[in-house]
Amino acid sequence: MELLEERIRQDGEVYPGNILKVNSFLNHQMDIGLLKEMGDEWARLFADAGINKILTIEASGIGIACIAGMSFGNCPVVFAKKSKSLNLGKDVYTAKVESFTHKNVSDVVVDKRFLSSGDRILIIDDFLANGKALEGLMEIVNQAGAEVVGVGIAVEKGFQGAGDRFRSQGVRLESLAIVDSMDAETGEIVFR
Ligand code: 5GP
Repeated sequence: MELLEERIRQDGEVYPGNILKVNSFLNHQMDIGLLKEMGDEWARLFADAGINKILTIEASGIGIACIAGMSFGNCPVVFAKKSKSLNLGKDVYTAKVESFTHKNVSDVVVDKRFLSSGDRILIIDDFLANGKALEGLMEIVNQAGAEVVGVGIAVEKGFQGAGDRFRSQGVRLESLAIVDSMDAETGEIVFR
């Protein structure tokens, strides 16, 4: 998506450790007009998918998913919570997710009331790096007996390989910007 690539080129900041910061328009301050364009693009790309629910993960997926929900005709949005509780109970679906940015492992939970068999789920997240967050969300959808009919990612770091791995497994994955390389010294970002 040209608009998002342009914005990343203009305002994205490349940090050592393969971190791209987009705090001025996506991950801290949020450009709602841009988010609406992104939601509309996913709605166009997944128009035939019969999506009835959007699933994301806290925290930074929530804003993006909510605006996308409006593009999908007020589609309900569920966000998986990161929990430190050891006693998670029977009423939740859970998966373990290792954080790319913090390197810790958290239990990610969704209340069983909010996902059901028969749901056709679009998973949305801000970044795709090694794919751990996405794997966890897919595992939760699987536990619910629901179906992941699509995955919408704002920024895929293509050089980390997870996107192509999911695609080769048949996952319908649409990333709005795919970064092929980035350089923390020069700040240069190359898109696929
Ligand atoms: P993965 O689980 O695919 O390794 O990482 C995805 C998650 O880590 C995303 O939910 C995102 O919050 C975070 N993340 C991964 N890489 C980056 C990055 O380069 N910049 C930012 N801001 N977040 C990232």
